[in-house]
Amino acid sequence: MIKYSNFEDVYKEAESRNKKLYEICELIEEQNTEMSVKEIRSKVKKNLDAMEAAIKEGLHSKEKSMSGMCGDDCSKLLEMYKKGSKLFSKTYQNVLTYALATVEQNLRMGKIVACPTAGSCGIVPAVIFAIAEALNVDDEIRINALITAGLIGELVSNKIALAGAVAGCQSECGVAAAMASAALVEMYDGSNEQILNAAALTLKNILGLVCDPVAGLVEVPCVKRNAFLAIYAVTGAELAMAGIKSVIPIDEVVDSMQQIGEMMSPRLKESSEAGLATTKTGLQISEALAQKWKSE
Ligand code: SF4
Repeated sequence: MIKYSNFEDVYKEAESRNKKLYEICELIEEQNTEMSVKEIRSKVKKNLDAMEAAIKEGLHSKEKSMSGMCGDDCSKLLEMYKKGSKLFSKTYQNVLTYALATVEQNLRMGKIVACPTAGSCGIVPAVIFAIAEALNVDDEIRINALITAGLIGELVSNKIALAGAVAGCQSECGVAAAMASAALVEMYDGSNEQILNAAALTLKNILGLVCDPVAGLVEVPCVKRNAFLAIYAVTGAELAMAGIKSVIPIDEVVDSMQQIGEMMSPRLKESSEAGLATTKTGLQISEALAQKWKSE
């Protein structure tokens, strides 16, 4: 079984063989799973299809979550854009709406692809599909992008569990944004170095992000955070494509994330015992929902 424990080794392997990072992933998967590259890519395509379906369904739904806190944000944004956007392009609008459309499907118990988790499921699809539309790229390029995103998630998860309960939201939405950044650079046909710089730049700027969901539900702040961090991901990719480098290499950024996660109070790691969850409004919502569900 081939398993790389850090980005530097995978990067060196890719460079020494004159391959892109996604090609190294395919070779690893081929050897570890005994599937052919064609079969591996077909599985990745199925995930892309599920992502696309979630976006499409989410764009047409206003159904609220059981708590009533979320579910109609995407439709509000679409309504505003129908009237015209003063500043931003259609691509920017799509990044935001696709992120919300996907993550709102998660609240409705719709089918989504956890990438890397359900709470952060909107970020990677939003970036891949919005930018793929803008660049008019085909399925093969999208598959390369999602494999690249998967490499980032896989290698980070080798060091630290991707869960708000373990390391806060930096390890869920933060890693999703790093994955999306890397995917976008691959779609731009950036170099392996630029891909890892994009992931590092993005993750570096989300370090310390806590997990403090209101009423213990993956809704507030999670839903809107997907839209915000999708834009972070695009920013990281743009900087990397301009040749801007992360002074701290990606492996060391991940080490920092792990250290910060360990130092983070358990009260800020999905326990809903601090932060937004224990604001006056957060507590009121939590209490009201507890009463409502008790009486049902
Ligand atoms: S705030 Fe917590 S529950 Fe919500 S997406 Fe982030 S890690 Fe997940």
